[in-house]
Amino acid sequence: MLIVMKFGGTSVGSAERIAQAAELAVKSAKEGHKVIVVTSAMSKVTNKLIAAAENAVAGEYHKTVSDELHEPHRQAVHQLMPTEAARRREVLESLRQKFERFETLCKGLTMVRELTPRTLDAISGMGEMLCAPILAGAIAERGVASHSIDATELIVTDDQFGQAEPLMAETRQKTCDKLLPLLEAGEIPVVTGFIAATAEGVQTTLGRGGSDYTASILGAALDADEVWIWTDVNGVMTANPNEVPEARTMREISYSEASELAYYGAKVLHHKTILPAFKQNIPVLILNSFQPTDTGTRVSVTGHPSSRGVKAVTSIRNVSLIAISGKGMQGIPGIAAKTFAAVAAERASILMISQASSENNLCFVVNSSEAARVVKALRASLELDLLQNHIEDIAVDDSIAVVAAVGDRMQGAPGIAGKVFAALGAAAVNVIAISQGSSERNISLIVGEAQAADAVRAIHRAFELHLPSAA
Ligand code: ADP
Ligand code: ASP
Ligand code: MG
Repeated sequence: MLIVMKFGGTSVGSAERIAQAAELAVKSAKEGHKVIVVTSAMSKVTNKLIAAAENAVAGEYHKTVSDELHEPHRQAVHQLMPTEAARRREVLESLRQKFERFETLCKGLTMVRELTPRTLDAISGMGEMLCAPILAGAIAERGVASHSIDATELIVTDDQFGQAEPLMAETRQKTCDKLLPLLEAGEIPVVTGFIAATAEGVQTTLGRGGSDYTASILGAALDADEVWIWTDVNGVMTANPNEVPEARTMREISYSEASELAYYGAKVLHHKTILPAFKQNIPVLILNSFQPTDTGTRVSVTGHPSSRGVKAVTSIRNVSLIAISGKGMQGIPGIAAKTFAAVAAERASILMISQASSENNLCFVVNSSEAARVVKALRASLELDLLQNHIEDIAVDDSIAVVAAVGDRMQGAPGIAGKVFAALGAAAVNVIAISQGSSERNISLIVGEAQAADAVRAIHRAFELHLPSAA
């Protein structure tokens, strides 16, 4: 089998964790599989890089920032490559060069005082470039040839810095040209997750948590047999285990369930991960690098439908509700069209939409980081409607969360919405707005942020998701 396996931040968070990741990759190779490894940055490194860039642009940068980031990497190299002196020197030298560049960029920011999305991508993507050579070294120490490769040489994207989209034809060509010969030669290539490059070679990133997406893009480009996502939990669970301690691992879920869950906040998978795998029917496995014998979750065409209808519950924070209201909106055509055109022009994505049939109110949810920009654009494009009093108000509420109940079997099953709302009522959760997609695989609701955890727990309990599925 050809397996693309991705290790998340905690799975490469220390020398011990990197050693374990290397063991897992080598084990699969020794079982006769062709293995491509994708690595995240060591845990917390991406956050620290972004914080350093933001501080630098505010005028604050000290060399200690770079030294503090450098140290755990340097230590990992010494621990993981005790024997191969030449390789160790080479990796240490590559770390030194990357930190030199990091310092130059940060010092530059203290002077120009402007952090463009392009520069932020150049800095935030460094964590993966630091980690990949260390993991490749650890694999080589275990007797299988391995080199690190920057995904900038493989994945070609558009220029939406911070959330770039792959151009698959170009990506397929480059990936096959570079990686297939290495696989044929018996190597385990270690590719940097999260980063990519435009056709002109400018570095981009695929969005926070994007290393999962890197794995499925490479899996699709190489027609892999499976994509494995090694993380720190036993697969995709019925809810965020931090929010619902009794949440259970789902052993099989469908592509559509995985995709809805990821979209509605299950951080275990980057929300775009599923699509490339789904298009080519490549199974995706979510596995725990801390408990590698656990079977994890398998995402495939059929999943394992649950007779309960709802299979899992998620929540998304850091989102804002934008409400456009006015008695005069009734019967005026085009307000929705103008609204969504304005949002699309800002390249903001809408997580949920709801409109009451009275047509007096249209509301939708966007990420809070995009809310101010979206409202500004709306005020401009709906200026005339505001002047004519068709619209009285464009309001923003930042103190909300979206909660979603997901499951393929919700489709056509009566009574599910009733049960969701009865559970929320009993838990005294106030529902601000509701939406159900026509796919009927998801009911999403807006609640006050302070009540989101209660809402998730109430739905989880009502559908007895802590019990093994009675499918
Ligand atoms: P990685 O660094 O391996 O990419 P992430 O932190 O991005 O890992 O994702 C794994 C985390 O996602 C888990 O530790 C868990 O806290 C969180 N999580 C949120 N919702 C879910 C869910 N439904 N199932 C499993 N994990 C979830
Ligand atoms: N290191 C990146 C992040 O923290 C990508 C990833 O971990 O998937 O967002
Ligand atoms: Mg992740």
